[in-house]
Amino acid sequence: MSAEKKMTLKGLRSLIRDVPDFPKPGILFKDITTLLKNASALRFTVGKFASKFTGSQIDQVVAIESRGFIFGSALAIKLKSGFVPVRKKGKLPAKSESVSYTLEYGQDSLEVHVDAIQKGTRVVIVDDLLATGGTAEAVVKLIEKLGGEVVGLAFLVELSFLKGRERLKGYPIHSLITF
Ligand code: AMP
Repeated sequence: MSAEKKMTLKGLRSLIRDVPDFPKPGILFKDITTLLKNASALRFTVGKFASKFTGSQIDQVVAIESRGFIFGSALAIKLKSGFVPVRKKGKLPAKSESVSYTLEYGQDSLEVHVDAIQKGTRVVIVDDLLATGGTAEAVVKLIEKLGGEVVGLAFLVELSFLKGRERLKGYPIHSLITF
C-alpha cells in the first residue's frame, strides 16, 4: 500500500514551475506540467474546482483550448455536467459562433459550436491561468451571445498583478493559486 501524502494548496503552488523568457523574452511562463504529473496534485486540483460548484446545477463546463481542456473534462465528470470546448479559429467542424479579442500584438478569435449552448444553459468556464483576463472575457461574451448563463469561472493560477479580475467584474472567480 502506498502512503500518499495529503496535498495542500501550498503543495500545489510548489509544483508549478517558472520558466523565464518563454515563449518570448520577458515572459515568466507558469508551467503546470510539473503539477499535472503528480497524481495527488491532479486529483486535488479537480476536487477543489468541483467543490466550488457543488449544488450549483451546472449544465456545461466550458473549457478554453488547450490547457483548459485538461481540467474541463475531469471537472465535468465530477459535476455530472457536459463538456464544451472553446477552440481557436477554424478548428471546429460545425456551425460556430465566434468572438475576437485583443492580444498583446494584434487580434485573435475563439469559437464555440452554436448548438453547444442554449438559452439559459448554466455554464462554468475553466482555464489553467488568468493573466490579463482578455481570453476569459472573450469566452464570457461568446457564451452570453448564445444565451448561456455564466455561473462562475475557475482557474488553477491567477497572476493578480495583471488585474484580469477587473475585466470579469460581477462574475464569481475561483482561483486556486495566486501569484
Ligand atoms: P489572458 O488572456 O492574458 O488572461 O491570458 C490567459 C491565457 O494565456 C491562458 O490560456 C494561459 O494559458 C496563457 N498565459 C498567459 N500568461 C501566461 C503565463 N505567464 N504562463 C502560462 N500561461 C500563460
